[in-house]
Amino acid sequence: MYHAKSKGKNCLTFYEKDMDLQTKKFFSISENMRQDLYTDKFSLHYQPQFDALTKELVGIEALLRWEDKDGNNIPPSVFIPIAEESDLIVDLGIWVLRKATFQNVEWQHKGYPKVPISVNVSVKQINNQDFIVKLKEILYESGLEPKYLNLEITETFMYEKENAMNFINEIKNLGISIAIDDFGTGYSSLQYLIDMPMDVLKIDRAFVKEIESNPTKMGLLKGILSIAQTLNIKTVAEGVELEKQYDLLKENGCNIIQGYYFSKPKSKDEIESLIFSK
Ligand code: C2E
Ligand code: CA
Ligand code: CA
Repeated sequence: MYHAKSKGKNCLTFYEKDMDLQTKKFFSISENMRQDLYTDKFSLHYQPQFDALTKELVGIEALLRWEDKDGNNIPPSVFIPIAEESDLIVDLGIWVLRKATFQNVEWQHKGYPKVPISVNVSVKQINNQDFIVKLKEILYESGLEPKYLNLEITETFMYEKENAMNFINEIKNLGISIAIDDFGTGYSSLQYLIDMPMDVLKIDRAFVKEIESNPTKMGLLKGILSIAQTLNIKTVAEGVELEKQYDLLKENGCNIIQGYYFSKPKSKDEIESLIFSK
């Protein structure tokens, strides 16, 4: 059943022995995650975002980290899909939102530059009725001004247009900004970009990779930047690793740069000493 679901549902799948192993792995990882929820086995790393022109710090993305009981760092690309499939993402996502929000308030109280913190939100979380209620609670309890919170959602979220519209309007009414994550890799509908009041478009790493050597990639990137500029949406380039990539992005009007070229995601302590102490 899980295999059929992973192939996009509504299909037949024949049993193979290997599937038992996969299913066991799925249950073992989700059970381990459940046990570690609300413990310090989960933590956040923070990756700074810089203005392309001034190189000023303009935002920070919170990225979830998990160390399992054997001390291994499990990559989010492994545990997030399992958290989504097992619905654990609903509680885990609220934990991330709370932690990131309170962290931003702490930084502001310490006198560090005030910048929005970006939190990744899964479609499963958005479809959960309680999400907006919890979000309001967190804002109220932390005292964070909503303009210092940004939610990153992927394009798949827009499949159900009416739900998506309602959600985005509610978020915008609270004064929180919204970014489309991994733009270009999913169901990119230009009509949705026109209809939905997005603040930020995050260009996926796939479109940044090789722009310095591959004219087709560079052409596509220019096209995406020009669409965003026409619609008056700010652009963040993800996965910028090289100076040449940074130069090309800046020259072509990309607003914000995120990637190893400036900084990898870092722990709270590292980011405090490396970014804020400058
Ligand atoms: P994402 O939201 O697209 O996050 C950016 C990913 O790219 C991060 O991977 C980051 O470490 C990596 N990255 C940043 N700059 C560079 C670069 O210059 N080069 C390369 N090669 N990689 C770069 P990470 O931390 O492994 O996260 C992977 C994905 O897991 C995220 O992709 C996001 O979709 C998901 N994720 C992470 N934290 C959360 C969370 O709290 N909630 C949800 N729902 N998803 C999360
Ligand atoms: Ca993201
Ligand atoms: Ca992304």
